[in-house]
Parts: sequence; structure tokens; C-alpha cells
Amino acid sequence: MSTETHDCRHLLADLSLYLDGEASATVCAEIEQHLQDCENCRVMVDTLRKTVYLYRHLERPSLPEHLRQQLFKKLDLSELI
Ligand SMILES: [Zn+2]
Repeated sequence: MSTETHDCRHLLADLSLYLDGEASATVCAEIEQHLQDCENCRVMVDTLRKTVYLYRHLERPSLPEHLRQQLFKKLDLSELI
């Protein structure tokens, strides 16, 4: 699967829209299909989903800076490439 890295990058670009429910049906389908094949992304999306849910649930106005940086680090797959 030499295209996996490319797919991950592509997916990450739309991930925030996907998590917000604002991605197009085509993008959603692409992401969901990729998640079936890619455990890395599956774990990450699951983590992000929980984080997003918690923050909405708590009605925080914005992410604290340290958590934002942690998320960005998680989103950056450069160490895995
Ligand atoms: Zn992936």
C-alpha cells in the first residue's frame, strides 16, 4: 500500500470538516473508506471525535493552547512517513 501516506494526508485536510459534519457526502465516503483500511487514522479520528464531543459537551469557547498543540502534533504524521 504505497499510497497510504498520500491518502492519510489527503484525509487529514478534510478531517475537521468531517468531524464537524460539514464535509460533502463524497468526502465523507472517502474518509470512511480510508478509515476501514487504515488503523492509524481510525485511532486518530476516534480520539479527535471524543475530544470534539467533550469540548462541545462542556461548551468551552475554544481549545486551550496546550491541547491545541497536542492535537496538531497528533495530526502531523510526518514522523510516521
Ligand atoms: Zn490513514
